[in-house]
Amino acid sequence: MASGPETDLPGTHLLSLPGEDDAEGILINWIHFGESDIECQARYGRTLTHKMGHYLSLLHTWGSGNCELNDYCNDTPAVDVTVFGRNSFEGCSGEFVMISNYMNYSDDEIMNIFTNNQVDRMHYVLNNHMGRNSLMSSPALEQ
Ligand SMILES: [Zn+2]
Repeated sequence: MASGPETDLPGTHLLSLPGEDDAEGILINWIHFGESDIECQARYGRTLTHKMGHYLSLLHTWGSGNCELNDYCNDTPAVDVTVFGRNSFEGCSGEFVMISNYMNYSDDEIMNIFTNNQVDRMHYVLNNHMGRNSLMSSPALEQ
């Protein structure tokens, strides 16, 4: 699981926001960290990529499951159901769902994209959220 940042971005209410005394961060089962030879759909380390997306304000591509109020990213085709697996299908407007987006529950093997609008949301958080913005000056980036 990942705690989302409280910001003024639309859709923030759909994130898992921490309570007043709760820790913030990402909690991930070691089985889904990095590549493994375990037989499952999440064996290439994309779970952490997905959780990092939530940590930086991204919603699932299906948002709240509503075609009108989706993930607040205009460049991800709107979809109103949870996206699993590896087979695309038609979303709300008849476009094919972006099955390869990290913010789905697609199989790790086919996930490979954040869209420009998603990147913009993450940059907004990194530049404006007290707490997340310190990541940009972390000594860990100097390695
Ligand atoms: Zn998620």
